[in-house]
Amino acid sequence: MWRPPKRVDDGVWDTEGFMAKVLIAGGGLAGLAAAAALGRDGWEVDLYEARGFLGGRATSYAVPAGGEEVPETIDNCQHVLLRCCTNLLNFYERMGVRDRIQFFREFYFIEPGGRISVMKRGRLPAPLHFTESFLSMKCFSTADKIAIGRALLALRRERTRRKDLDRISMLDWLLQKRQTPHAIDRFWRQVLVSAINEDLDRMAAIHGFQVFWLGFLSTANGYEMGIPKVPLGELYTADAWRQMPNVRMHYRAPVERISAEGFVIDGQLVAADRYICALPFEKLPALGLPAPDLQHSPITGVHLWFDREVTTLPHATLLDRTMQWMFNKEGGRYLQLVVSASRDLTPLSRKEIIDLAIGDLRLFFPRVKEASLIKAHVVKEQRATFSAAPETESLRPGNESAIPNLHMAGDWTNSGWPATMEGAVRSGYLAAQSAARSVGKPTLYLLN
Ligand SMILES: Cc1cc2nc3c(=O)[nH]c(=O)nc-3n(C[C@H](O)[C@H](O)[C@H](O)COP(=O)(O)OP(=O)(O)OC[C@H]3O[C@@H](n4cnc5c(N)ncnc54)[C@H](O)[C@@H]3O)c2cc1C
Repeated sequence: MWRPPKRVDDGVWDTEGFMAKVLIAGGGLAGLAAAAALGRDGWEVDLYEARGFLGGRATSYAVPAGGEEVPETIDNCQHVLLRCCTNLLNFYERMGVRDRIQFFREFYFIEPGGRISVMKRGRLPAPLHFTESFLSMKCFSTADKIAIGRALLALRRERTRRKDLDRISMLDWLLQKRQTPHAIDRFWRQVLVSAINEDLDRMAAIHGFQVFWLGFLSTANGYEMGIPKVPLGELYTADAWRQMPNVRMHYRAPVERISAEGFVIDGQLVAADRYICALPFEKLPALGLPAPDLQHSPITGVHLWFDREVTTLPHATLLDRTMQWMFNKEGGRYLQLVVSASRDLTPLSRKEIIDLAIGDLRLFFPRVKEASLIKAHVVKEQRATFSAAPETESLRPGNESAIPNLHMAGDWTNSGWPATMEGAVRSGYLAAQSAARSVGKPTLYLLN
């Protein structure tokens, strides 16, 4: 039987018999992170997920194959992380799947025509660690490089000083710093649009600053790109949940209503000591909760299977065209292309998007011209993330709610990060902290 922990001394708690029960709505990364954190600390956790699998927007599923072939398991879209995503890596550690993430030290920038420039860490310490490779990158002119170098220095200086970074767009700031068109299109846009999922003119400068500070300037390895070696869904079905018998997953169990009295599931009220709502913000009004006034930004993923190898690169950022990133999923024959902030693709049909993708790929990888496309799959996620527009940070609520026993999580809450896997895990840890604090058992789950 649960009893509240008692403070026995300053900062020391008697937690014997502490078995608070928490219900979590939503099995995306935010809900899973909260479940893993509280579950490890002995909470009784029941997590309700509307779908038949975990992972939410960072997941994988089987797509039907043609004829006799076995269905293929694909990610809804390639998900990448940076080494500076410390809480996400901590969550993978808790799940015992940290070794299923492969890190890459090279970023390949390809121009139409196929010329490749490589950005990677050299011998100098941060923040100068890219200097050697950057100077040798052929996709930038000397004027571009001087402009980028100047802006990076300014970013370092202004990061903590400027107070208007949530009010101006990243493009406004880059124009203030007199960036050349190539520097904007081939460097800043190429990195930031995919990291923040928003166009430079719609993205608050504060997010661009954070990505470059944490990923590219503050440490020498923060930029390293992590790519799961397995389908995303396999990161959450791991043995880890079995090691936490006090955490129970309920699949195909949509929560219908959330109030101070509990969750309504299948018409029945289910009660506990604490509740965590880890649902996308657009779902809240239907459940009786207020939603922040945020907008969405779409992402489109294009999966292409060729009859032969068309590239040996593991991944690359594709300059000056619609397709932004290429990931080599299998032997140079199965490629995944990603377009973030993909509003322009919304009205296009599946066939038009595939034709566009093949047209772009031919420019970068000449072998595509000889290859035959075996199959293709297009995933348009219209509600991929919230739009990190200027003046939206103040709209993102914290982890406490107007209902004292209800704690909020989700990549749209005020996690200190934009809508990313790291942001979602941070929000889950913060909601877990908020729940733990509210029962008198303050615990730190967030790493930084
Ligand atoms: C196409 C695409 C590409 C992306 N690429 C990247 C990337 O490369 N790197 C990166 O860091 N981030 C990326 N993201 C963002 C990242 O996936 C999200 O920020 C993160 O997964 C959000 O997690 P979440 O738990 O907050 O929300 P969600 O993942 O949306 O989880 C919410 C869960 O709640 C469930 N649910 C909904 N309604 C109910 C209900 N009534 N009852 C119970 N359950 C319910 C949903 O099924 C879902 O499982 C991408 C997102 C998309 C869509």
